[in-house]
Amino acid sequence: MTTLAIPSLSADKNFSAEQQRYLEGFFAGVTAGGVSFADLSGTSAAKPTVPEGPALEDLTKEERIKRELHPFDAIEQLVMDARWNAKPEPESIFRYKWNGLFWLNPVKDGYMCRLRIPGGVVKSYQLRELAAITHELTSGYIQITTRNNFQIRLIEPKNCPEVLRRIQSCGLHSKGAGADNIRNITMNPCAGYDPHEIIDVRPLVNELATLIIASKEFYDLPRKFNIAYDGGGLISAVEDTNDIGASAVKIGENNDGIEPGVYFRIALGGVTGHQTFASDWGVIVKPEQLNDVMVALLRVFIKHGDRTNRKKARFKYVVEGMGLNGVLTETETFLPFKLTCLSPESAIQERRSFTQQGHSHVGIFAQKQEDLVYVGATVPVGQMTAKQMERIADLAESYGSGEVRLTVWQNFIIPNVKSAYAATLAKSLRKLGFPCEQSNVKSGFVACTGNRYCKFAASDTKGHAIAMMEYLDKRVKLDNPVNIHFTGCAHSCAQHFMGDIGLLGTKVKSDSGEGYHITVGGGFGENRKIGRQIFSGVPFESLGTTLETMLKGFLKKRSPEESFHAF
Ligand code: SF4
Repeated sequence: MTTLAIPSLSADKNFSAEQQRYLEGFFAGVTAGGVSFADLSGTSAAKPTVPEGPALEDLTKEERIKRELHPFDAIEQLVMDARWNAKPEPESIFRYKWNGLFWLNPVKDGYMCRLRIPGGVVKSYQLRELAAITHELTSGYIQITTRNNFQIRLIEPKNCPEVLRRIQSCGLHSKGAGADNIRNITMNPCAGYDPHEIIDVRPLVNELATLIIASKEFYDLPRKFNIAYDGGGLISAVEDTNDIGASAVKIGENNDGIEPGVYFRIALGGVTGHQTFASDWGVIVKPEQLNDVMVALLRVFIKHGDRTNRKKARFKYVVEGMGLNGVLTETETFLPFKLTCLSPESAIQERRSFTQQGHSHVGIFAQKQEDLVYVGATVPVGQMTAKQMERIADLAESYGSGEVRLTVWQNFIIPNVKSAYAATLAKSLRKLGFPCEQSNVKSGFVACTGNRYCKFAASDTKGHAIAMMEYLDKRVKLDNPVNIHFTGCAHSCAQHFMGDIGLLGTKVKSDSGEGYHITVGGGFGENRKIGRQIFSGVPFESLGTTLETMLKGFLKKRSPEESFHAF
């Protein structure tokens, strides 16, 4: 592809009078298929803002790029790139992430588009349109991410505006899906259906997502930000790996004068890539106050996050710098009410009255609604074709209510299925390549994008995970579920530190040149633990035998009742 130097639209003199007239009309909000390009930017009022605090010259390069031109205003440049099918300029690469577009070069010439799907709830008509976009304008594959979200890949520059327009036209978004923004909000994938849950968090997730997507204030964070809401159901939202994780608790009578009812405990500063789980804040919040507190915490981060050093810019460092009490005092300055504190050791919470089961999103489970079940299917390493996605939409409509939920384990659930039809649906899903039977080996594989599409990756994580899945499934019979997480670099998108077995890609001397550092003993939720590294630089060629030996060794030497995460 030829690279053209495309002048910015602000340099009007570079265009002929005719071109200029066309451009002025075009960017004044001419509607294309129901959505205007002004809508695509979403922030016609957005202005570069200068944060309080550091002088301009002390800001990181990324902060200066943001301030020179608001990333949403770079939509004009994106459209110009599309007109000439041109590669983006380096600064545009950073800005386009605000529209969820990631330039894949040097791995491939093209973009990946990450959506945002609050809580991972999608409808069949959205799946169909996404399948059509994927089939017509991308590599043909869709991937489920570890933030119950979708990504599509290899979009040519000329197709970017059309992809963005079509994503919006079916009620989905990609705004703020990358860079210094609040990423997709995650929740328990069967919220509203799970008979075990303490509270249905969907309304809270939707309210917060609307606030975040619509407010320009939240498109200028010092760094990325993750939020998860856990309503206390059978399947965790893995909330303690987030910058903020809110977990529902039930408080009974006679507890330090606290009114009985449902509250949320809040944990702060989790970043598994930095080997840190979120710490309990010692605060409980009523559901109706939860989003006010979230917004206040976001404002604390916007005000105090480090904009002079990207490595120290995550919320975890604000928490470490101010301490949990300091964050509390500062948060209250943004709130019209005082926060209610508990000691972190407080015994007055009743979180879950049962133990979460491993891989419990895979299989057939009763809903709280009479005679309805949800059916969870495994998607090998979270990847599917457009055709498979269309078929999932058909099945969700035929057997369920047309709704599909994505999980942080890169799998999906079809809810609202009459129990009499569950086995038929499971059979159809299996035929489609998505088994609904729990496999202690196969159901717990998670893999990040890997070097087929991600420039940071040291290894082909998805390809290797599929190979290991098949290899181990034939050779090892486990009586307990094991989670195996493949991540291609230290950013740890697949959260290898919390896997029973975690694999971190690295370059090695071998035929493939690709290998892994291996950690064991990670966990989340009730078993939260950062895994410890036991092998370094194991070449892919010997990974199968290494994992097989580890798993067989565990089966032979474990003490009774010992699970892999404690190994
Ligand atoms: Fe890319 Fe690294 Fe994330 Fe994998 S963990 S998708 S290699 S950035």
